[in-house]
Amino acid sequence: MKFLITAGPTREPIDPVRYIGNRSSGKMGYATADAAIKAGHEVILVSGPVCLKPPRGVALVKINTADEMYEAVHQHLDGIDIAVMCAAVADFKPAHYSAQKIKKNGGLENISLVPTRDILASLSKIKKKFCIVGFAAETDFLHENALKKLREKKCDLIIGNDASRMDTGMESDDNALTLFYKSGKIKSISREKKTVLAKKLVKIFEKLQEKS
Ligand code: C5P
Repeated sequence: MKFLITAGPTREPIDPVRYIGNRSSGKMGYATADAAIKAGHEVILVSGPVCLKPPRGVALVKINTADEMYEAVHQHLDGIDIAVMCAAVADFKPAHYSAQKIKKNGGLENISLVPTRDILASLSKIKKKFCIVGFAAETDFLHENALKKLREKKCDLIIGNDASRMDTGMESDDNALTLFYKSGKIKSISREKKTVLAKKLVKIFEKLQEKS
């Protein structure tokens, strides 16, 4: 199978030295890419800035901003069997970029934000057929929010995790997942190392693709 995986955070620049970012480490996406390669698949990994070594054998595409990730994903859709959108893409970016460093004595009362394009949601509009997998990191109402995302972003599978816990999810080596399938099936996978979870996910993705 040919995988397209996004991973890590995006950075939305305010000026040459500042940006809006998030705590995503990229560990879940990189572990999934590694597990897919080791299972004999082809992987394109579109990654935001992270401190991880790319798994040997992946085709790595490095990006910084949500716009760059959108373009990179859309340039690499050819022949893929599955898109696994693991990245924590910024939902908003500064409306204006200051080419000069903003001086603190000049004051900055607020930063106007505009929404970024939703990469995951854009995939269902592509004519080519491939499985679409999204992630949902939620602090509240995981089931309701994940099911809403599954429906609105027209995914085959949404993988939810509780972002309010410090021992799993963002930055952590561990995660606990709940899988929400388009068919209505819901499956929980209890807390494990992301590397272990990634191997399970790759098997789940193989089955998902077989059935589609
Ligand atoms: O709506 P929310 O950001 O919580 O959705 C999370 C899912 O959507 C993740 O799979 C993430 O990679 C994807 N996403 C995206 N583009 C955005 C925002 C989120 O692909 N601009």
